[in-house]
Parts: sequence; C-alpha cells; structure tokens
Amino acid sequence: MTYVVTENCIKCKYMDCVEVCPVDCFYEGENMLVIHPDECIDCGVCEPECPADAIKADTEKGLDAWLEVNAQYAKSWPNITIKRDGPADAKEWDGKPGKLDLLSPEPGEGDA
Ligand code: SF4
Ligand code: SF4
Repeated sequence: MTYVVTENCIKCKYMDCVEVCPVDCFYEGENMLVIHPDECIDCGVCEPECPADAIKADTEKGLDAWLEVNAQYAKSWPNITIKRDGPADAKEWDGKPGKLDLLSPEPGEGDA
C-alpha cells in the first residue's frame, strides 16, 4: 500500500506534510504535491499533518485515479522536503469540489 495526495491539495498546497516524511518522498507540482508510491513506506505520519485532509491511505475505496496521478507526476516533478508558504488564497480553495480540472501538469520549484 501507499499514501496518496488527493484532490483537496490542489491550489491549497500548505506543505505541512513534506517536513515530516522520513523518506522524503513528496514531489512538487505547480499547484499540488504528490507522493511517490514506490518510495512511501506507509508510516502514516503525514496524513494527520495535512490541514486540507488531502492525504489518504490507498486502502480507502475510490482512490485508483489519484494513485495514478501520484505515480505519474512523482516521476517528473522535483522532490520537495522544505515547507514554503502556501498560496495566498489557499483557504478560499480548501474544500471546493471539482478541483481536478485545475491540476497543473507543470512542475513546482522543488527544494531548489
Ligand atoms: S499538507 Fe496537504 S494540502 Fe498541503 S501540500 Fe501536503 S497534501 Fe497538499
Ligand atoms: S506515509 Fe510516511 S513515508 Fe509515506 S508519504 Fe507519508 S510520511 Fe512519507
């Protein structure tokens, strides 16, 4: 199993999760983070850290599409271990439905 980042991270991207991961397996897109499913050791530490409740165990039903999103972008986005400030309007987007259409395929800055 693995943990996956799901829809509510999009445009929220608070980044509280990256600092607690013992194996540094978060990868940063322009407006979302993902977890590399082959690197995640399923420790679960990140799940309660997410203010947007966007991190789920893949044992939950209905997450296949999100697992695919995580696996796909973890290959091309840069690794991220440092928390930066989230977007200024993150609170306005928290909990909004239909954010999948807004997912940017562009990479984020990563640790650089
Ligand atoms: S803490 Fe949650 S909302 Fe923030 S980047 Fe991590 S998964 Fe996304
Ligand atoms: S479950 Fe553990 S290893 Fe997996 S992403 Fe979260 S903190 Fe990292």
